[in-house]
Amino acid sequence: MTTDNKRPPKAIALVSGGLDSALSVRLMQEQGVEVTGVHFYTGFCITEQQRRAGNPKAQNRPNDGLRAGADLDIEVEIVDISQEYLSIVTHPKHGYGANVNPCIDCRAMMIRKAGEIMREKGADFVITGEVLGQRPMSQNRKAMDIIEDEAALHGRLVRPLSAKNLPKTIPERENLIDRDRMKGFTGRSRKPQMALATQLGVDDYLQPAGGCCFLTDENFARKFRDFFAHNPEGRLDHDQIMLLTVGRHLRLPGGAKVVVGRNEGENNMIQGLVTRGAVPGARLMVAEGVKGPLTLITGDAQADLELAAAITARYADGAPEATLMVRLWAPPEQEQGAGRLFPARAAAPERIDPCRV
Ligand code: SF4
Repeated sequence: MTTDNKRPPKAIALVSGGLDSALSVRLMQEQGVEVTGVHFYTGFCITEQQRRAGNPKAQNRPNDGLRAGADLDIEVEIVDISQEYLSIVTHPKHGYGANVNPCIDCRAMMIRKAGEIMREKGADFVITGEVLGQRPMSQNRKAMDIIEDEAALHGRLVRPLSAKNLPKTIPERENLIDRDRMKGFTGRSRKPQMALATQLGVDDYLQPAGGCCFLTDENFARKFRDFFAHNPEGRLDHDQIMLLTVGRHLRLPGGAKVVVGRNEGENNMIQGLVTRGAVPGARLMVAEGVKGPLTLITGDAQADLELAAAITARYADGAPEATLMVRLWAPPEQEQGAGRLFPARAAAPERIDPCRV
């Protein structure tokens, strides 16, 4: 099929790296549509966070959108929406899903931006891999209608995997694409998608369980809520978010927040954030002469400092009964080796467990 001016139809596809978006691209390519992909960088991608924390598997893995683009033989543009995205994460108009995932606002923002790209590039419509009834929050009919409305695409949003269950779109009415060659998938079962993947030869995609968004993670959600419970006027920026994704988080009885690195990559991230002043009032602790974590602490009640030292000793490599010297210092004013020393013995689990965030 061709447009009035005899060129093939053009579509902008949201490409996450997952199976559904890949299948929707393939279904359009089968109809002769020229597809350009767009992959949005939100700052909440699990793979990106693993990369920053030095995870070797993530280091070697290409960007999910670019990898999918190479497999599908389409150009994929990476669009950074991370600054604007923060406002919907902290104040979502349509609320959160099970954790702190603002899925309806998130989809609406991404599809609206894809619509802007569609107009800039003179494309005819936008496609997504959404499946009616697949996700409880954002893929029920009411939510999908809200998303389409807020994305302001006015009939130019095509969901090829569920198209037969949705109203006819403009490109269908204009005969740019054939409704009969799209699908009518509904519900949570992945079987129809797996079968279609085999039929279309799509085999390299991000597993749904590996998801690319830690806003759906309940551990992250607890830390996120704790941050606002203790900073009602607080501004969550990308440094704070990065801190919420690393280490063991504890809230001590005097109100101090403690983050204990779990490995070298996390220790480096914590050190980098504190050294460049990204966490107001934060100081660092380390047990001297043994291998162990770097601990970040905000707050200065004496009892909290002593407990933080005992927690640092707990996760260090010293003998459980040994008394270690734990140093507290305040970068960037103080170098490691300066600051205050605390003698500390490893805190018992009964002292630590109630403090875990
Ligand atoms: S899971 Fe994350 S990326 Fe996906 S729609 Fe929800 S908030 Fe957006």
